[in-house]
Amino acid sequence: QAKNEGPGRLKLFDASMQQTARERLDLEHQLREAMRSGQLSLHYQPKYSIATRQLVGAEALLRWKHPQRGMISPGRFIPVAEDSGLIVPIGTWALNEVARQCKRWSDAGLEYGRVSVNVSGLQFVRHDFVGTVKRAVRAASIPPERLELELTETIVMGEVEQAIVRLSALRSLGVRVSVDDFGTGYSSLAYLQKLPVDVLKIDRSFVQELDREGLPAEQARSLAQAITFLGHQLGLDVLAEGVETPTQLEQLANVGCDEVQGYLFGKPMPPDAFERHVRES
Ligand code: C2E
Ligand code: MG
Ligand code: MG
Ligand code: MG
Repeated sequence: QAKNEGPGRLKLFDASMQQTARERLDLEHQLREAMRSGQLSLHYQPKYSIATRQLVGAEALLRWKHPQRGMISPGRFIPVAEDSGLIVPIGTWALNEVARQCKRWSDAGLEYGRVSVNVSGLQFVRHDFVGTVKRAVRAASIPPERLELELTETIVMGEVEQAIVRLSALRSLGVRVSVDDFGTGYSSLAYLQKLPVDVLKIDRSFVQELDREGLPAEQARSLAQAITFLGHQLGLDVLAEGVETPTQLEQLANVGCDEVQGYLFGKPMPPDAFERHVRES
C-alpha cells in the first residue's frame, strides 16, 4: 500500500490538509464576524403530542446567513465553533435569545408551549453554566418551565457523576432537560436511571429506518419500542425527531412514543413564521 504512495502523492495530501486547515481558520474568522454583525439567528421547529395532536413546543436551531456565501449549515459551522471555543459565547447568546423570544411570545398571548435550545458540552462543563441559565431566565423574566435544554447522550454520559450534580441544579431552577440524539452514543443504563432528566429524544437515524421494508424496519421498530419502554419505565417523556412520513408517525404511535418533531409537521422556521404556524394550527 505504502509503495504506491510516492513523494508526489504525499505532497498532494499535505497540500489538501493545509487547505482544509486554512478553510477552517477562515470560517472561524468569519464566524467571529458573524457574531458581531448579527448574521446568526435562530429558527424554531414545532413539536407535537401524538396523543392530543396539539403543539407542545419548539426546538431552537442556529442559522448562519453569510452575506456572500448564503446559508451555512450547522453541520458545517458548529464543529468549527466547537473547536475554536466560539460555541460558548454563541451558545450563551442562543440561550438568552430563546428566553427573550419566549417572553415576546408570552406577551403576545401565543400558546407556544416550551422551547428547547441545544447546549454544547463545552458550555455544560463550565462552572458558571447553571448561573448563565439562571441569568437568562431572570433577565427575560419568563417562567423557567418554558425553557428546555437539549444535551446529547455523549455529553451527559461523560463525567457522569459531575453531570448528575449539574443536571440536578438545572432542574432545581425549574428548566427541563432532554437527552438529544438518544441511541447514537453509549449510555450506561445504570446511570441513565440516576440522571435527572425529563425527555429522551430518539435520534432521526432510527426514525428514518421505520418505513423501510422487512427486517431493517422490524429492527428499527424494536429499537423505537425498546427506547420508549425504557424512557417510560424511568418516568420520562419520549420524543422522536426527524419524522418525515405518515408511516413513521404511525409506527411511533404504535410503540407508544409521546411526541414528534420533523418535516412532516414543520421545518425549522424564523420566529414570525413559527408564530403564524402556531396561530393556524
Ligand atoms: P439536533 O439538535 O439533533 O437537531 C435536529 C436536526 O435535524 C436539525 O438540523 C433539524 O433541522 C433536522 N431535522 C428536523 N426534522 C427533520 C426531518 O424531518 N428530516 C431531516 N432530514 N432533518 C430534520 P440542523 O438545524 O441542521 O442542526 C444540526 C445540528 O446542529 C443539531 O442537531 C445540533 O446538534 C446542532 N445545533 C443546531 N443549533 C445549535 C445550537 O444552538 N447550539 C448547539 N450547541 N448546537 C446546535
Ligand atoms: Mg437538538
Ligand atoms: Mg437531536
Ligand atoms: Mg440529531
